[in-house]
Amino acid sequence: MYDTIVVGSGPAGITAAIYAKRRNLSVLIISKNDSALQKTDKIENYYGFPNGITGKELYQNGLKQAKNLGIELIEDEVVSIEFSNNFTVETVNSEYEAKTVILSTGTNRTTPNITGIKEFEGKGVSYCAVCDAYFFKEKDVAVLGSGNYAIHELEQLKPIVKSVTILTNGNEIVENRSIEAEVIEKPIKSFKGENKIQEVEFEDNTKKQISAVFIAQGTASSKDLARKIGARIEENHIIVNENMETTVPGLFACGDCTGGLLQISKAIYEGAIAGLSVLKEH
Ligand SMILES: Cc1cc2nc3c(=O)[nH]c(=O)nc-3n(C[C@H](O)[C@H](O)[C@H](O)COP(=O)(O)OP(=O)(O)OC[C@H]3O[C@@H](n4cnc5c(N)ncnc54)[C@H](O)[C@@H]3O)c2cc1C
Repeated sequence: MYDTIVVGSGPAGITAAIYAKRRNLSVLIISKNDSALQKTDKIENYYGFPNGITGKELYQNGLKQAKNLGIELIEDEVVSIEFSNNFTVETVNSEYEAKTVILSTGTNRTTPNITGIKEFEGKGVSYCAVCDAYFFKEKDVAVLGSGNYAIHELEQLKPIVKSVTILTNGNEIVENRSIEAEVIEKPIKSFKGENKIQEVEFEDNTKKQISAVFIAQGTASSKDLARKIGARIEENHIIVNENMETTVPGLFACGDCTGGLLQISKAIYEGAIAGLSVLKEH
């Protein structure tokens, strides 16, 4: 049992972990070990680097700083967070318990650019299996995705719905898990229906009847994880107060996932506040 688990090792997560650790809390960082920083060539607007610094170097420096402080860091992908007495953070490979959780998984991917997805949001397009599966009890549904997160959503749906088909939209399905469902790897042209989703049409003009599609592309984002546990989301970001508390007690969020200025300086500020705020829970 940890005092706090930080999900993400970008500037927000590392800073939150440092502040929490320096107040003697037991801290675990779980991260897929990448960051928006890795996509950044040169950073010239962050304090203290007169000649700029590459994103990769800044990211590695952050990891080193956390490790030097004795912070435990596990490389894994978080697929779900649940609460009952304490938080359980479920990853692809294991489960971890904590009294508090700090979400700092950056900004989420854009919604897949497939005709019908925006139009049918709330009318068959869902972003949360655990929240919406029951609405499609005994129906044929699909999961859009090809990675571990998609497989996790499949497992959530299977006991409730009639059938689940995985739609990878032209991508290869992840190979390290056994999948008990139909997998269609064909590229998708559109989702169609009258007032609600009724079918998916593929690029080769074939079709399949479905009543819902659960979007689970790539990795679960902060927004996906927060939504599952009941935290308030608005537009594309998690709602927090000035202490970086979400609407779920004990669950904090910081950095790009809370919206606003998507810059390192803001991620650092919010990480510091989150790392200090978790103290109040102990
Ligand atoms: C091309 C580009 C250029 C940029 N240039 C600048 C610049 O010049 N100056 C500036 O200030 N900012 C710049 N930014 C923005 C800056 O990189 C971000 O604001 C900052 O990295 C946000 O930090 P964060 O910690 O919130 O998220 P991130 O740095 O994105 O970190 C997110 C972390 O969460 C982890 N993660 C995500 N999902 C999961 C999961 N399900 N399970 C486990 N781990 C997960 C990731 O592995 C990562 O460790 C740039 C961004 C981009 C993309």
